[in-house]
Order: sequence, then C-alpha cells, then structure tokens
Amino acid sequence: ALKAGIVGLPNVGKSTLFNAITQAGAESANYPFCTIDPNVGIVEVPDERLDKLTELVVPKKTVPTAFEFVDIAGLVRGASKGEGLGNKFLAHIREVDAIVHVVRCFEDENVTHVDGKVDPISDIQTINLELILADIESVEKRIERARKNMKGGNKQHAQEVEVLEKVKAVLYDDKPARSIELTDDEQLIIRDLHLLTMKPVLYATNVSEDEVSSADTNPYVLKVKEFAADENAEVVPISAKVESEIAELEGEDKAMFLEELGLAESGLNRLIKAAYRLLGLYTYFTAGVQEVRAWTIRKGTKAPGAAGVIHTDFERGFIRAEVVSYDDLVAAGSMNGAKERGQLRLEGKEYVVQDGDVMHFRFNV
Ligand code: GDP
Repeated sequence: ALKAGIVGLPNVGKSTLFNAITQAGAESANYPFCTIDPNVGIVEVPDERLDKLTELVVPKKTVPTAFEFVDIAGLVRGASKGEGLGNKFLAHIREVDAIVHVVRCFEDENVTHVDGKVDPISDIQTINLELILADIESVEKRIERARKNMKGGNKQHAQEVEVLEKVKAVLYDDKPARSIELTDDEQLIIRDLHLLTMKPVLYATNVSEDEVSSADTNPYVLKVKEFAADENAEVVPISAKVESEIAELEGEDKAMFLEELGLAESGLNRLIKAAYRLLGLYTYFTAGVQEVRAWTIRKGTKAPGAAGVIHTDFERGFIRAEVVSYDDLVAAGSMNGAKERGQLRLEGKEYVVQDGDVMHFRFNV
C-alpha cells in the first residue's frame, strides 16, 4: 500500500495530528492489505463520487479506498550525522511515497520550541537540510561507484555520472532534488537511489485552535505558502488540536462542531485529499448491489493491473472490462441507462484506466 510519512521538528504537533488520524480510524477489517503497526494510521479517502454512486446503486455496503500515514517522529537537527536515532528516521522516510511536513504556526508559551521561537521557515529549512545532507551522502557514494565503473569506457556510467553531478549541484545549493527538472530517462537513472528530497511534499501548517477559521490569512501560514510556491509544494492549514477534538465526534455532533468553527470540512479531510493527490493516485470504482467501492491505482495502470488491486486472480484470468465513466453513469442515471446510450464500453488488456472509471471485470478462474 502507498504511504505518506508525517515529519517535522519535535513539539510541532505531529503526535496530536497522528492521534486524530488513528482516532478517525478506518475499519481495518476492510483493508486486510494495510500494515498493522502503532506508527501507521489507515485513513479512508473522502470522495463525493462514492456517495453519489451509493445513492444510484443502493448497495448493502460502501467502502472508500484508503492509504497509510506513517508517524515518523524524532527527526532533529543532526539526524543526517546519525545523532540520536537520526539515521533510523531517515531510513523510515526513504520508505514512504510522499511527505507531510508538519510546521508549527501556533504560539503557546507552555509548549517549548526546540529553537526558542516560532519560525516556520527556519523549521522547514532545518528539516530540509537534514534530508539534503543525507541525499548528498547517497549521491556522492553513487558517483564514486559510477566513476570506477566508467573506467571500462562504459557509456551508461558516464551518463549516470552526468545526472548525478547535476543533482549534487542542486543539493549543494541547499535545494531539494525535486526542484530540478529531469527527463524521464534521467529520473530512471537515479530512481533506485530513493532520494529523500525527491519525494513530493506538502506542508501542514499547524495553527492555534483560535485561528482555525482564519488560518488562510495567518501570517505564519502566508510565509509558508510563499516558501512552498517556490518549491511547487502545497500547503494545508490545519489545527492539530481541533482535529483531535473533531475526531472524537461522529455524525450530527461532528457536523455541528464544524459549523460552529465555520468550517465546511474537517482539516483532516482536506489533508487526506491533498496527500492522495500528492501521491499521484487515481480512483476507480466497482458498483454492484453487494458493494460499491473505491479502489486506488497509480496513474497509467492498465485494466488487468487495476483488476489485480482487487484480487490477483482477477489479474491473472483477466478477459475484459466493462467500463463507464463516472460522469456518463451519473448523467444516464443507471447502468442500464448508460448501456442504452452506448456509453458502456468493453475494454481489453491495453486499456489505461482513467480516474473515475466505473468498472466490472470479466475473468477466467
Ligand atoms: P510532536 O512532538 O511534533 O509530536 O508534538 P505534539 O503533538 O506532542 O505536541 C506538542 C505539544 O504542543 C503538546 O503539548 C500539544 O498539546 C501542543 N499542541 C499541538 N498542537 C497544538 C495547537 O494547535 N495549539 C496549541 N496551543 N498547542 C498545540
């Protein structure tokens, strides 16, 4: 399963946010392929399309798709030098597909700041520097190895060195590897280095509970937005404290509390949606009377691969898929309606599944 890692300096609100995530918790029985670990929280991905399909089909059960948040606490200045448990945390970051960087934007004299004052940009740079230093180490090791291999006159290694040098220069400029434009070929060359600063990032700006409804204009948040714009990163303002309170409520109570706060949607929902986008994922649906369900695939997945997300047998025995786009299905009002309009397509093995496809697989067992 795909994972987003939560990082940030100590005392910025990571645990508070992570607790809200596990509290809001998905029913893990629905997600047998997810990790069971105290540092992993499974979240359901809110999707209005799933609600609409449920209205249309009236199934016995509706199951959203899910992904995992991993709590990666303990990243501090000096981590890249292996200070404290530093290197262990960097190794955890290496395993995630995207990073949610929690930044302190709340004032509270009772909560110590590791550097003595609230300064989100300086905090971000402290963490980023550790990641950059760790990447420099990886890149330099690889350059050394590629240089040795190059002596045999191997062209491939020469190209590798060229790309690595390019990345190294950016890192030495204190910028993340993701800030350079690389061709697909170049990306492929360095992919197995799993560079930490190549991973997509979003900044979760943790504001005080009093400022939750005006978070967008909070001066700290505005600074982070400016910083993030340069990096093409997204910013999601959130109040970890408020989210942990919201997570304890359900149904009507929750709706009322959100209304009191002047919020259309919980910050956690916004964070989940943003992280899902950040992971570059698509959702397709299956819609039967037993179950209406959302499934996650990577962009570019073909029909058999998408079937394999449900069950490996579906992939192995794949024959064809019946496909209707979500929009067409909703416009037609029913599966039969879509069929009459000629919008129910039969697709084969080479079909690239689109976001919002409603699919039914035919397969041999
Ligand atoms: P972590 O070290 O990043 O995991 O930070 P924690 O989640 O443990 O939070 C550190 C302290 O800050 C705790 O005492 C939290 O209650 C407090 N805290 C977290 N978020 C907020 C917030 O939005 N407002 C205020 N006032 N305190 C917060």
